[in-house]
Amino acid sequence: MSDEGYCTTDGAAKPQAADGPPYAECVLCREPTEYPESYRGITMCPRCEWQEAQRTSCSG
Ligand SMILES: [Zn+2]
Repeated sequence: MSDEGYCTTDGAAKPQAADGPPYAECVLCREPTEYPESYRGITMCPRCEWQEAQRTSCSG
């Protein structure tokens, strides 16, 4: 059997996307995210979010 790095990120609760600006900034690169500024917690832009997901889901 082969396990070619098949990773899923199911189970991760995603915050709700904002309807419009102002958006919260990414905690990593300060780019605007798709989350509302009022969102409490860690907000990451799609790119950083993806990178984090790769890192956390594929490490081991
Ligand atoms: Zn970012």
